[in-house]
Amino acid sequence: MYIRSRMNLAEIKEIKELLTTKKNIVIVPHKNPDGDAIGACLAMYHYLQLKGHAATVVSPNDYPNFLKWLPGSNNVYKYDTQNRQSVTALDEASIVFLLDFNALHRVGEDMQHGLEDYIGTFIMIDHHQQPDLVAKYLYSDISICSTCQMVYHFIEMLEDTTSINKEIATCLYTGIMTDTGSFRFPSTTSTTHRIIANLIEYGADNSMIYNKVYDTNSYSKLQLLGCALNNMVMIDKLKTAYITLSQDELNNYNYEKGDTEGIVNYGLSVEGIIFAAIFIEDVDQKIVKISFRSKGKFSVNEFARKHFDGGGHDNAAGGKSIVSIDATISKFLNLLPKYKNQLLKSYGE
Ligand code: 5GP
Ligand code: MN
Repeated sequence: MYIRSRMNLAEIKEIKELLTTKKNIVIVPHKNPDGDAIGACLAMYHYLQLKGHAATVVSPNDYPNFLKWLPGSNNVYKYDTQNRQSVTALDEASIVFLLDFNALHRVGEDMQHGLEDYIGTFIMIDHHQQPDLVAKYLYSDISICSTCQMVYHFIEMLEDTTSINKEIATCLYTGIMTDTGSFRFPSTTSTTHRIIANLIEYGADNSMIYNKVYDTNSYSKLQLLGCALNNMVMIDKLKTAYITLSQDELNNYNYEKGDTEGIVNYGLSVEGIIFAAIFIEDVDQKIVKISFRSKGKFSVNEFARKHFDGGGHDNAAGGKSIVSIDATISKFLNLLPKYKNQLLKSYGE
């Protein structure tokens, strides 16, 4: 009864059949994986190991420390720094799961080539819009809050939820918690809460998980947050707020991967604001990384796709720019008035 959208029965039957004999399987998240991507991959890893398969998670690159405690994290290969092991795992795999992304380029250029050459069976499970049709088996549902919830549904479709153990439950809980902003985004449904209740029954320690993910701030990370909040610019008449962080500012506060995650949401927490952005300079990669968030009907997915080489969901998207941070912000500011009607009509009016 929890299933909202599913693979067809014939596909599920084929996947069940595939999984009846021992397989080498690789599981891949998107580049710069977040809690949902890594949670989904590690949950799938534990599930497949439990079923007797040789499963390996191959991440395009590293992920934030606040996710490193997840069970199985020590066994994750990183394609950029552990290339030989990663390539071997892919060569040997007859099935590759693609979790929490909708197009091969989302793994980054190097690994994308590796996946494009792959000749085995892809199974994609994802909740982003407009998935590329690269996988033999695609389970796509943009209404579901997280890929972790979809992995739960996937196990449900295999009629195997009784196999969910503490490790699987912990990984799935983490991804659902992080992708729903701790169960508050509109995509959080009664079904999500029922699944969460089940995961707690299967052994997920909700309070411990929250602590491990959110109560691990360093002093410098909080100072960086302070800097970001100081830099916030309000454009009240367009219900917009944006934040900037230059490379110098990041360096001043000993920036580490993951430190800026979630900062963009502070813009949206200002009363009356329905569109928030953060621009983060990355001198190494010669880009400005951008995150967009919105409330209501204003689609940041469309905005990011159209103007900043990105995409995502209606209310949470990202993109990038290859011009300077100042030029990127000018471009953004010049675009905003064109969206005036949409921005003013979007929410609560
Ligand atoms: P975040 O702002 O947290 O990095 O990403 C928000 C959402 O937008 C995520 O679902 C992420 O997958 C998507 N996203 C972020 N950056 C990009 C990008 O450069 N391209 C695309 N297509 N999606 C992105
Ligand atoms: Mn996700």
